[in-house]
Amino acid sequence: MIISVLVELQNRNVDKLFNYLVPSALESKIKVGIRVIVPFATFKLEGFVMEINNSVDSKYELKEIIDVVDSEVILTDELLSLGEYLSKTTLSTKISCYQVMLPNGYKASKKKKINIKYETYIYINYDVLKVSKLTPKQQEIINYISKNKNVTLSTLTKINTSVLTLLRNNVLYKEKVEVYRLNSNFELKEKKKLTADQMQVVSQVDLNKYYPYLLFGVTGSGKTEVYMELIEKVIDASKTAIVLIPEISLTPQTVRRFKERFQSDIAILHSGLSDSEKYDEYRKIKRGNVKIVIGARSAIFAPISNIGIIIIDEEHSNSYKQENMPRYDAIEVAKKRGEYHNCPVIMASATPTLESYARAVKGIYKLLVLSKRVNNHSLPHVDIVDLAKCKKKSKFISEILYLKMQEVLEKDEQVILFLNKRGYSSFVSCENCGKTFVCPNCDISLTFHKSSGMMRCHYCGYAEVKPSECSNCHSPFVSSGSGTEQVEEELNNLFPNYKTIRMDFDTTSKKGSHEKIIEAFREKKYQILIGTQMIAKGLDFPDVTLVGVISADNSLNIPDFRSSETTFDLMCQVAGRSGRSKEGSVIIQTFNPTHYALQYAKNNNYLGFFKAEMQNRKLLSYPPYFYLVLIRIKGSDYNELSLESKKTREFLSNKLDLKILGPTVASPFKVNAIYRFNIIIKYKRTGNLYDVLNELIEHYKTNKKIKIDVDFNPRSF
Ligand code: ADP
Ligand code: ZN
Ligand code: ZN
Repeated sequence: MIISVLVELQNRNVDKLFNYLVPSALESKIKVGIRVIVPFATFKLEGFVMEINNSVDSKYELKEIIDVVDSEVILTDELLSLGEYLSKTTLSTKISCYQVMLPNGYKASKKKKINIKYETYIYINYDVLKVSKLTPKQQEIINYISKNKNVTLSTLTKINTSVLTLLRNNVLYKEKVEVYRLNSNFELKEKKKLTADQMQVVSQVDLNKYYPYLLFGVTGSGKTEVYMELIEKVIDASKTAIVLIPEISLTPQTVRRFKERFQSDIAILHSGLSDSEKYDEYRKIKRGNVKIVIGARSAIFAPISNIGIIIIDEEHSNSYKQENMPRYDAIEVAKKRGEYHNCPVIMASATPTLESYARAVKGIYKLLVLSKRVNNHSLPHVDIVDLAKCKKKSKFISEILYLKMQEVLEKDEQVILFLNKRGYSSFVSCENCGKTFVCPNCDISLTFHKSSGMMRCHYCGYAEVKPSECSNCHSPFVSSGSGTEQVEEELNNLFPNYKTIRMDFDTTSKKGSHEKIIEAFREKKYQILIGTQMIAKGLDFPDVTLVGVISADNSLNIPDFRSSETTFDLMCQVAGRSGRSKEGSVIIQTFNPTHYALQYAKNNNYLGFFKAEMQNRKLLSYPPYFYLVLIRIKGSDYNELSLESKKTREFLSNKLDLKILGPTVASPFKVNAIYRFNIIIKYKRTGNLYDVLNELIEHYKTNKKIKIDVDFNPRSF
């Protein structure tokens, strides 16, 4: 027997199938989709069996495989063809596409760190019991075991040590069983009776065929209840479901709602789990022990069979796009799996991406709408405060926001303050009047480069010198950005009688800290929660009646053509945290009070925003009118990199009849001593694009100093 194997080496030069002989003793164990151990150069490597061929013409003498790793198939036929599709459409190595599907526990390099948890259960040997005489203590143990399920040795020895005698006499016997961690139980809760609106949405979904749907539902409109109703129908039809949720919304709160309804039928996959826990959840899925998989991006590859529905919550979230190889979009994978299983794919959001909504308008997606909050609470009232004109109570807090906070806190209600910061402090703005600079060609914020003193556009390379003072108001220019810590300090001074808790990257880096902060705030141990976009999504606190946005300008000034969309989304999402159970309000502080993204967000007018933003996108040839592909060229030698970037641009211009921008500096430009340049291609149809990009990748494949990344539909630049 001869097999073709894809070895676990991340290297484009060996990302192809190698043939091996199978010794006859191992032949019966070989299946497509299992892993084997093979000799490779001077190493022993793991690899996937991709094909079984009985006759292969080979000039070389084939080596024999060393061993077989799995007894059951790891990559099903579906996953194998999905990997093929991924590597073709994202120009990633084949091996990276298969590795991304598996939890760390299956990766050769990580395997040693995984441990499987066992429990020793005790059972009665009735034949021996019949003929045994027991002491009262021993009888007690027998009674206990017959009354309870899954009695473990450790619980018994705690009760009474005579269990050991019974074991020795064979009245009892023990069995070591593999168990899963994470089996916390939730009380079964009765399901809510759906509203007419919710029922009408549920009835519009055809569960018996593939179709993409866009569920456009305002925050608090009961989307999650709709998901659960659809899933119940799917389970009743003996099928399964995958639910994708952005990582930061995968809080115990969300998980609890599903577990209360579906109990142990659920597996959860997210980065907060240890490798061992993930491995457990994965095996539950693989063995068919669960009917629902809930997880972040990579859960779309869950090896669950017979899928009846795929749901993508908060479909506008950037987290569905992977930023390193393979640079895949989980939503595209979901559609591919939906097609394979002939089941609906539901994308849902209160603020769908422009791309998705445009497709719904065209009829490519079927549009489902939930336009009202379930409890008929109106959406919160939104006020915009002009930072250039308003009275300030402190550096970050306007008098209006301060007074409103006082009012809410005195009523024993809670406040969330949102610091809209994305780690870009390098845009230039006037601290006094908020003036900023945008590229005349691309309409994105210019980024300040300290080393050269220039402000640059990250798309087209446009540059101008940073002025020393503001042309509006003549105050000095500073690089903007304010930290959550500073705001926290101010709050402690302004509201000494109330307690503030901070949730940002620093306070949530420890496992479980995210949950602890949320729980403490829910229990009203704190009255004010301050945080980054981490707090924008999914949280449901009944006593929060005021949300304050410290500054909407940070996200408006991100050097990205999506900055208006991102800001609109964020403002709607944060507003959605206010007044979920009572009347609530929102205050947005900004230097750009008339910006259309803020004005439409104020009125929660998605359609208005959509129309306005579509015009901008059309004017500047951005998605959804054009697709983008980003080519990133990286290297540690600046001069050589600069030269190669220009050569690459020339090569692309010669071969492609498409709009090409760059090379320009990436943001950030230098990471770990590696410089990065971007070239952006805009296209409507791929034509020869894939061939040309493949040629480019091939050209740099063996180059040790210059590396090329290709990113289709990039989410960051
Ligand atoms: P979304 O996912 O659209 O933000 P949720 O599903 O979280 O909305 O619903 C918002 C709130 O309304 C939740 O507290 C939920 O329990 C409640 N809810 C949803 N549907 C119903 C219903 N049919 N009857 C009563 N309460 C509901
Ligand atoms: Zn100014
Ligand atoms: Zn530009």
